[in-house]
Amino acid sequence: MRLFRVREHGWAVETTDGLFRLESPWLGLMDGEPQLGEPIAGAIEFQAPVDPTKIICIGLNYQKHAEEQNKPVPEEPLIFMKPLTTINDPGGSIVLPAQSKLVHHEGELAVVIGRRLSKATPQQAAAGIFGYTCANDVTARDIQRRENRYTRAKGFDSFCPLGPAVTLARNFTPARERLTLAVNDEIRQESQLDDFIFDIPRAISFISEVMTLLPGDVILTGTPAGVGPLLAGDRVDVTITGIGSLTNTVT
Ligand code: ZN
Repeated sequence: MRLFRVREHGWAVETTDGLFRLESPWLGLMDGEPQLGEPIAGAIEFQAPVDPTKIICIGLNYQKHAEEQNKPVPEEPLIFMKPLTTINDPGGSIVLPAQSKLVHHEGELAVVIGRRLSKATPQQAAAGIFGYTCANDVTARDIQRRENRYTRAKGFDSFCPLGPAVTLARNFTPARERLTLAVNDEIRQESQLDDFIFDIPRAISFISEVMTLLPGDVILTGTPAGVGPLLAGDRVDVTITGIGSLTNTVT
């Protein structure tokens, strides 16, 4: 089952008869079936299908990406945050900032949290996952290398495209699915989602030891090898089997 957010309609669920409005996905959908509202007709403009209080990211969570960045594999998950103003809709523009000469794409699987999680065990963390979506953790690599900090390099407006849909956790097993990132149809990143240094429940458990996770919060699970530059005019697609394709242009 896939959920969308539609401008001027809010949350929507996809059925064989089209899109139907959904009141609150967090309350009903963790355990039960969706309470369908009226059908959504007319022009549809999709928004990032998230409503977080925070976006937490895991750095260097794939062996091969740590190698290509010449960084040792961390002993504990390395976490950082992106401000909510980085959120970008499917179809939105990634805006290259004047301060950077090297902006990279990072295709990632994003987790959407469905229950309040504080000091959760990995098992409790797994049970608190609402669903999954595609993310692009856009990064000003030159700034990141120069400052050895993440806040500015990862925090520019538009630097976190998310979408197009959230696939419910009960319909999605990451290890069986595959991520592909293409720039102008040329594949740059490709990985099965079974290659994490810290598996998803363990990473969520680790984060919940630091900060309480709330329904709607988003966790980016790290990027596989193959990160590379984005240039003005590029079209970038993050595709995850079982979710769909997140497409953005670069300006
Ligand atoms: Zn990343």
